[in-house]
Amino acid sequence: MNRIYFDHSATTPTSKEVLEEMLPFFTDIYGNGSSQHFHGREAGKYIDIARRQVANAIGAKAGEIYFTGGGTESDNWAIRGILEGYKAKGKHIITTCIEHPAMIKTLQSLQKNDLADVTFLDVNSEGFISLEQLKNAIRPDTILISVMTANNEIGTIQDIKAIGEIAKQHNIIFHTDSVQAIGNVAIDVNDMNIDLLSMSAHKFYGPKGVGVLYKRNGIKLGSYMTGGEQERNMRAGTLNTPGIVGCGKAIEIAVRDMDKNNKYVASLRDYFVSEVEKKIDNVYYNGTKSDKRLASNANFSFEFIEGEALLLRLDLAGISVSSGSACSSGSLEPSYVLLATGRAIELAHGSLRFSFGKNNTKQEIDYAIDSLVKIVHDLRELSPLFLKKKGESKYV
Ligand code: PLP
Repeated sequence: MNRIYFDHSATTPTSKEVLEEMLPFFTDIYGNGSSQHFHGREAGKYIDIARRQVANAIGAKAGEIYFTGGGTESDNWAIRGILEGYKAKGKHIITTCIEHPAMIKTLQSLQKNDLADVTFLDVNSEGFISLEQLKNAIRPDTILISVMTANNEIGTIQDIKAIGEIAKQHNIIFHTDSVQAIGNVAIDVNDMNIDLLSMSAHKFYGPKGVGVLYKRNGIKLGSYMTGGEQERNMRAGTLNTPGIVGCGKAIEIAVRDMDKNNKYVASLRDYFVSEVEKKIDNVYYNGTKSDKRLASNANFSFEFIEGEALLLRLDLAGISVSSGSACSSGSLEPSYVLLATGRAIELAHGSLRFSFGKNNTKQEIDYAIDSLVKIVHDLRELSPLFLKKKGESKYV
């Protein structure tokens, strides 16, 4: 069976070009990038190149780039490091209720232990925060505003420049989780007044297990990992040279090809959305229809159907998609992101995320639409609520 992958927000395949760039660093250039001898210097040289590639992609300086083990670590570090660096000012943090669990669960745990005081901003039906609500939430002891650039479930892209402006006016540090945005949304940390930014290479056709925390020079950030003196004494642990080299190459390609890829992927997504809306009744599009949405993302609620059931039936048909975020799959809780946008619990339960990528084709979309139409029909025929609506149920 031909397998179709529509789950690029969960992870992307490492591109061949990136893999080729990484391979010598497993076998030939294997020195520890922190060692002073030839082998170490040789590896260090390529780590510096990757650091510049990442910096160039977001308008930063190379010395402001810190390599981590992924998006989750970068998010944790940003929050915990700022709480440590600015404890004299306070512990109030403003964020949104639709952040990734890497942010939300970290903040909830800190709040529970009285180590942080957190305001979670609401979002509207399209997933946007209100700038007025943000301004009203600011207090004298606010040390951090953290708003994700693009949401992982519904793809909503926030007005990061306006948020950065507000943070700057109030002299508050601004962090953004750009894990879903890098390679899809143009970022300039200076133009957007971003002080801290998280990213993860496996979301932009790079390898898994390597991420970045950008930290503007001058921001006081506590170190996250203690141990060796790597990453200017800020993040201990032997540097993952192949991963870092892959991350640098992947971001260079992602930014270079961003407009072309976005145009192509959006055309697939828009075709998919219009066909689904044309061919299936009682579907609700989650998120915004404006262009402030990731080109790759489509998220639908299918009334009278469990998202998990639909996901499993699509899997049997050879199509990989996600219900809620990959991290929450397997949980029976409805998506907190959809609930925050005002979706009813039953519709939040019946949601699926389709995230397309640069290697998908129109034939794959056509096959997926045909499968979806059939599976939705079959599952609804098993739904007492649907049959009741049609007036055919013997039981309800
Ligand atoms: N933040 C967002 C918005 C994400 O979508 C993800 C992963 O899905 C993460 C953070 C965590 O990144 P990682 O899987 O690299 O730890």
